[in-house]
Amino acid sequence: MSDLYCVFGNPIKHSRSPFIHTLFAEQTGEVLRYEARLAPLDDFQGVWDDFVAEGGLGANVTVPFKLDALQLADVLSARAQRAQAVNTLTCGKNGKVYADTTDGVGLVRDLTSLNAPLVGARILVLGAGGAVRGVLEPLLAMGPEAIFVANRTASKARELAANFEDLGKVSGGGFEASDVQAGGFDLVINGTSASLAGELPPLPDTLFSAHGFAYDMMYGAEPTVFMRWAEPRAAATADGLGMLVEQAAESFFLWRNIRPDTASVREALRHSLLEKK
Ligand code: NDP
Repeated sequence: MSDLYCVFGNPIKHSRSPFIHTLFAEQTGEVLRYEARLAPLDDFQGVWDDFVAEGGLGANVTVPFKLDALQLADVLSARAQRAQAVNTLTCGKNGKVYADTTDGVGLVRDLTSLNAPLVGARILVLGAGGAVRGVLEPLLAMGPEAIFVANRTASKARELAANFEDLGKVSGGGFEASDVQAGGFDLVINGTSASLAGELPPLPDTLFSAHGFAYDMMYGAEPTVFMRWAEPRAAATADGLGMLVEQAAESFFLWRNIRPDTASVREALRHSLLEKK
């Protein structure tokens, strides 16, 4: 029997993770199965216990189980502890459950490969949910001039920024905050789920600097609402497909201790999304 991994979510049918991990396994010659598993909203612990009893070795966790995964873990990595966010679970040989977050590494690797401004950049991060919690530490490690976190619920952005103040210049507030309205950002990362509903946070026309880069963590066959809004205002735009592949590669590395090539998988995923259009 091959080694078993999966992604838990609800809903889960849309997940591209099995596609990505199957390509990683083929490419690296690792013998494993990676499945998408629907978990009931009220019993994550139950499906996790069944998975472990079946011999499952590790799992990704997506909406809405990220908090359940955090609570279920016996050992948190330093970055998951700081972010209070988890997307990867690993079963230790000692029976313990290890938890980590790979979203931030994934985002920064993708931004780096896209040559997005990071070092010395003025960065605006929109949203203060699970995804944003996981990306602030690696973004700050790139040495930006400053990061502003703007969220619909301003208090959440302020609290989140305060948790990372010791790592660099980071502050938070609402979309109407003077920092946001002043604009001139070199990089704006949309980490809200507004795009899912086809909505856009209220943003000024002057949001970007002359070489400003717009990045949406969401992805799809078509440019997102945020990308379409940014197109005439920013120098470059990108969606979060590369982040998805890079965070998956980091999970794969945690489980198998081997780094897959991401460029070919990113291309294959883009191709498959366009085919399904
Ligand atoms: P959460 O549910 O944890 O957070 C959602 C955030 O979006 C909150 O800050 C919320 O604000 C804000 N929001 C929701 N609706 C609106 C709206 N209509 N207008 C303005 N703000 C809004 O979600 P996640 O952090 O897990 O995910 C956020 C996005 O990132 C999703 O689009 C997800 O698909 C994407 N993502 C992509 C990944 C990738 O690999 N590419 C990985 C992980 C996530 P409030 O606090 O006020 O409710």
